[in-house]
Amino acid sequence: MSQKPALLPSVLQSKCPNCRKGKMFRQSSIFPLGKMLEMPDRCAHCGQKMEIEPGFYYGTGYVSYGLSIALTVFNLIWFALFFGIRFSDNSIFWFMGVNVAIVLLMQPVLMRYARVIYLYIFVKYGSYEHEVPTETPQVTQEPQVV
Ligand SMILES: [Zn+2]
Repeated sequence: MSQKPALLPSVLQSKCPNCRKGKMFRQSSIFPLGKMLEMPDRCAHCGQKMEIEPGFYYGTGYVSYGLSIALTVFNLIWFALFFGIRFSDNSIFWFMGVNVAIVLLMQPVLMRYARVIYLYIFVKYGSYEHEVPTETPQVTQEPQVV
């Protein structure tokens, strides 16, 4: 087996948890937002199923909630360092406003990483050994826009 790619870069790049080479999402950017959660049925590289069972990703709400909390803590740290948070003035309200704005803006990114983390919890590296069939077309049917 070839060298195992490191965990953190693979997660950050939304790579398939089994081979850490194929992409988990059809589009690498979150734009357009309407398609940002679209995933291929299987990893184009190793054949690992991206949605293990129907409704597999319903549990990701908890993960994205946790990520939102983590982002809030991160915001609290840099806000306190750069601007200071005191109870004697309005700084706590400034922080809350800034934090809500950032967490809302980051929501699409958090939702995608929630799925990535979720799949990494259930699929271990190299657990799915599968030869990619040579004759089956890898391209899923995409409507031809002329
Ligand atoms: Zn894969």
